[in-house]
Amino acid sequence: MEQELVNEMQIVFDSKSENEGFARTAVAAFVSPLNPTIDELADIKTAVSEAVTNCVIHGYDLGPGKIFLHAAVWDRTLVVAITDEGKGIPDIEKAMEPMYTTRPELERSGMGFSFMEAFMDAVEVESEPGQGTRVTMQKEIR
Ligand code: ATP
Ligand code: MG
Repeated sequence: MEQELVNEMQIVFDSKSENEGFARTAVAAFVSPLNPTIDELADIKTAVSEAVTNCVIHGYDLGPGKIFLHAAVWDRTLVVAITDEGKGIPDIEKAMEPMYTTRPELERSGMGFSFMEAFMDAVEVESEPGQGTRVTMQKEIR
């Protein structure tokens, strides 16, 4: 059965850690017409926050850059894509392993992708070294 596109939005913002809160609040507001539960909302906010943090810390190494956020609602499923044009991920499978981090000196625990996978229904990572990274996540609002 074909799903219907109900709503769609895009935002572009600077790669700064203060924009993590902006991005997760924007996505939370965008899904609110679906009346998500507090738990569903918390899951979405955490996942968006982890993905944006990764762009800031890893994609752009805390330097300047733009982060592209695209969100769409298909029937009752939120699809959110978070993209950077930063350094990219050489080995995606390895990067997604629990507790794998390339920045242990920044007190990272390597659990970002694991949280995204635990809190969302699906997580897809596309990346090209030197080009950037896109993380696309979906979650059905039940
Ligand atoms: P934590 O999220 O627990 O603070 P972390 O960010 O290192 O630690 P993950 O979010 O799981 O852990 O990411 C794992 C690794 O994948 C990172 O250490 C980094 O090497 C790589 N990575 C993740 N996102 C990006 C990105 N947008 N650009 C480049 N590398 C990335
Ligand atoms: Mg992370």
